[in-house]
Amino acid sequence: MKILVLNCGSSSLKYQLIDMETEGVLAKGLCERIGIEGSRLKHQPTGKDAVIFDDYQEDHSVSVKMVLDALTNPEHGVVKDMSEINAVGHRVVHGGEEFASSVIITPEVIKAVEKCSELAPLHNPANLIGIHACEKIMPGVPQVAVFDTAFHQTMPEKAYLYAIPYEYYEKYKIRRYGFHGTSHRFVSEEAAKMLNKPYDQVKTITCHLGNGGSVSAVKNGQSIDTTMGFTPLEGLVMGTRSGDIDPAVVTFLMEKENLKPEDMDVILNKKSGVLGLSGVSSDFRDLESASEQGNERAKAALDVFAYKVAKSIGAYAAAMNGVDCIVFTAGLGENSGVTRQEICDYLGYLGVQIDAAKNALRGEAMEISTPDSKVKVLVIPTNEELVIARDTKELLDK
Ligand code: AMP
Repeated sequence: MKILVLNCGSSSLKYQLIDMETEGVLAKGLCERIGIEGSRLKHQPTGKDAVIFDDYQEDHSVSVKMVLDALTNPEHGVVKDMSEINAVGHRVVHGGEEFASSVIITPEVIKAVEKCSELAPLHNPANLIGIHACEKIMPGVPQVAVFDTAFHQTMPEKAYLYAIPYEYYEKYKIRRYGFHGTSHRFVSEEAAKMLNKPYDQVKTITCHLGNGGSVSAVKNGQSIDTTMGFTPLEGLVMGTRSGDIDPAVVTFLMEKENLKPEDMDVILNKKSGVLGLSGVSSDFRDLESASEQGNERAKAALDVFAYKVAKSIGAYAAAMNGVDCIVFTAGLGENSGVTRQEICDYLGYLGVQIDAAKNALRGEAMEISTPDSKVKVLVIPTNEELVIARDTKELLDK
């Protein structure tokens, strides 16, 4: 069985074609600037050179068609024709309270995803465009939706309720949802395998640290808390997002600077985080080198970041009454030994000990704690596309 995994943004489309016999990626690629001048498709067949197609992509239907043409192209393709693609798995950002697991897409599911668009106005409409484009270009091919929020639907009420008037939860569904669920689920499952323990008997804290970041408490196979909330703005300090701040700062700043809600939204989502603090960059590689060269604000931004992650780990160790294993994943979590070390330096009280030589390695799943560390510390490359493909296959097999 071959499954096409799609992640559609408002003007982009990322894809992977996965062969489920081997779980190997046959080809992957990215359509950019959809509906904008200068559209292009970068197609990367595994083991061959990447190829660029720069025909104009008027909308996502054109992009899906181009992706299928690339996948079946006699020179750069990886399948003979479209009929070899058995299903499409879509990443959908927000499933609200409607979806606690992945589902086969039906007209009812589409209606429910549309309803959740209010909660993720930048993401869900783009995901829906991708779904409609596939319906048009690949009629009859089964499609599955895999939600970023679904894994966190097991959170208890005490973790997801905000202490604002309850009527706002009832009226607007304002609560913690959490994001990166597909990644937290994948790495926590992999961690249990690496530890040789049943998934439902491990307490894991997963740290997804990329441009956006979140920490989750996964107790006995279920997410019981996570740092992102109603939107992906809450929680950790991120590349450009503030994470937690006193909510009073928002109204104070709006009054002082005469800001509209949309201005405040840009400040908190795009101009804050380590970028706002350092004034240097949102990219941790730039910050690490600026800090090494003596830039005090870059150093302060990195310190604030690591301190916040460490505090979140402490909170979740308390929430689970202990922790067996801490996992680092995503761009920064997988690649930056310096950041991992800085975070783990706060965790001596848990009995965490890092092996510096192992922590300097990169690129594969590995244990970086010493043999006598009381808590195992693992680095596990995330693979959200594989989870989407696996869920799609499982639903089709049923
Ligand atoms: P992601 O959102 O998961 O793609 O992660 C992207 C972020 O990971 C970038 O913004 C970088 O800050 C960070 N990153 C990637 N590679 C490295 C590295 N070698 N060292 C430090 N940070 C890295």
